[in-house]
Amino acid sequence: MLSDSEKHLRIIGTQINYYFICKTKLWLFSRHIQMEQESDLVSLGKLLHSKSYGDEKEYTIDNLISVDFIKKKDYLELHEVKKSSKMEKAHEYQLLYYMYYLKHKKGIEKIKGIINYPKMRKKIAIDLNKSKENELKDIIEDIGNVINGDTPEPERTKICRKCAYFEFCWV
Ligand code: SF4
Repeated sequence: MLSDSEKHLRIIGTQINYYFICKTKLWLFSRHIQMEQESDLVSLGKLLHSKSYGDEKEYTIDNLISVDFIKKKDYLELHEVKKSSKMEKAHEYQLLYYMYYLKHKKGIEKIKGIINYPKMRKKIAIDLNKSKENELKDIIEDIGNVINGDTPEPERTKICRKCAYFEFCWV
């Protein structure tokens, strides 16, 4: 049986990402209501990754988190590759969660994160410090509240048109 902290650790990075993008999307995804288009988005991401970082290997850890590539220095450098910086906060906290997971579940203390935006030739360095860890704990708790509650009312935003759940919410 999983302890409470292990259950928390099992909340996957995608949920952290969706928490910042849309609570309705988070709720639907977490109830395993997944639409076909999701796989297209995944394919697009994979294509971008292979074009920009063809030699780098993706790592999946405990079937829970997938890191686009990892570099071993005197610390572990986790890399995420993203199409655009429109969802920067979602990307940042998803990667912070991976770092948090590796620290608390695997005992790896020396970790740095880098978000790569190859189309914009931009990189952002991410550090997991105490205040970010505390923020993450609050976010993880709030994700639990959202997914255990009623379906959040959809809010129409610019990203809805490209969202896999568009028809679910708006047609
Ligand atoms: S269509 Fe819009 S409101 Fe509905 S889940 Fe997607 S982003 Fe959220």
